[in-house]
Amino acid sequence: MKDFFQKVNSYVKEAFGASKYLFDGITVTFDHLKRRPVTVQYPYEKLIPSERYRGRIHYEFDKCIACEVCVRVCPINLPVVDWVMNKETKKKELRNYSIDFGACIFCGNCVEYCPTNCLSMTEEYELATFDRHNLNFDNVALGRLPTNVTSDPTVKSLKELTYLPKGVMDPHDIPSSDPRVGKLPEEVLDWMKSSESKEEATVVK
Ligand code: SF4
Ligand code: SF4
Repeated sequence: MKDFFQKVNSYVKEAFGASKYLFDGITVTFDHLKRRPVTVQYPYEKLIPSERYRGRIHYEFDKCIACEVCVRVCPINLPVVDWVMNKETKKKELRNYSIDFGACIFCGNCVEYCPTNCLSMTEEYELATFDRHNLNFDNVALGRLPTNVTSDPTVKSLKELTYLPKGVMDPHDIPSSDPRVGKLPEEVLDWMKSSESKEEATVVK
């Protein structure tokens, strides 16, 4: 009889333990029901990179003066500036310029220090290739205009995780009723302008 009660007791304890785990799991599920999804169905959906995203570098051959400042400030001396000295004009003649994105760490130093602003960081992040040598971009490849996820009609661009209000780091923290949530950059700009003009009107009154 004693064995029987001990078995019943352990069975009840196990049943309570199992139902507690079940309840914990359901609580987590219900907690996530309140949140916006953060999974992106790449490549059919793509996030719009943030305003200061450091993607593939764009280069303007005509503006480059072959000063090699970009090489000196690069932590790995990566840019290759191919130039020859023209003895008649006593000026450098630029032949080629290349950056190997297989080695670049996208720190932005070269862009920051270039005296003629011929380098800029774009929002292009899709550089995957089957051959790593294809990542060595010459001046023609570097001069190609960047692709933009918002202008590709085959892709649904997602904006929830990018244009958050100032100071907000976690998209789960902001209510969906916030006027900036889910807006494209130009829509955010319009909203900011209209709210600024409203504030000015209130001050004048
Ligand atoms: S710093 Fe700018 S101008 Fe000078 S070599 Fe590099 S890209 Fe050209
Ligand atoms: S982004 Fe940084 S690592 Fe890449 S080429 Fe420029 S300075 Fe070098």
